[in-house]
Amino acid sequence: MKIANNPSPNYDEKRYRKIKFIIIHYTGMATAKASIRRLRDKKSKVSCHYFIDEIGSLSRLVDDKNVAWHAGISFWNSDRSLNKNSIGIEIQNKGEPYNYEKFKSKQIQILIELILDLKNKYNIKDYHILGHSDISPDRKTDPGYLFPWVLLKKKNIGILPSRKISRKNILKNAEIPIVQVLLKEFGYQIQVTGNMDLQTILVLNAFQSHYIQDCMKNFLYDSSIIPILRDLISQKNRCLTKKN
Ligand SMILES: [Zn+2]
Repeated sequence: MKIANNPSPNYDEKRYRKIKFIIIHYTGMATAKASIRRLRDKKSKVSCHYFIDEIGSLSRLVDDKNVAWHAGISFWNSDRSLNKNSIGIEIQNKGEPYNYEKFKSKQIQILIELILDLKNKYNIKDYHILGHSDISPDRKTDPGYLFPWVLLKKKNIGILPSRKISRKNILKNAEIPIVQVLLKEFGYQIQVTGNMDLQTILVLNAFQSHYIQDCMKNFLYDSSIIPILRDLISQKNRCLTKKN
């Protein structure tokens, strides 16, 4: 794997850290050149460990052992502020809401190669390979509903629902607290309020854009989410108890 060096000054130096997560982003900027410029600009205070441009060239901006500033305020399962124990990978894409485009197969090929290498090197669990929107659903939508989690899963990266479940009736009011409890148990930061409030809508959008992408055209919150979440929670538990 060819990796160019494109160092960014935006990081915290560490002598050693335990790497637990891989977080995938898109840049949301018009060109790779503009993205790289921003990720290397001291004033922007953002960075990532790896960057993949539009033709699938890979560069390193921050050493794995140092903390890059890519996740911001974030939460997953029992971890908060995930910069400290994650690797951040940025993929060039103009992003939502305008000009969001399909990821190029060259980009995904190199991404898969990179993640398999990191997974192996740091013993990262599939449950801990996530999108930015999973860990910051109230602020972020990247890598978005076009990101091909299915192709990653084919190479044993990440977790996805194990079977297709047909769409059911629209979520009943009485089911909302059940869905909130399950989303929380799966890993999302959500309060169990019993209402379809803004935080719940944002978490459901993040959840669907990763785990049930075929719902994305018309954000319909139907009760098939319940068996899908139960399946994912049992995969989570298997993944966390498995000795690698
Ligand atoms: Zn991001």
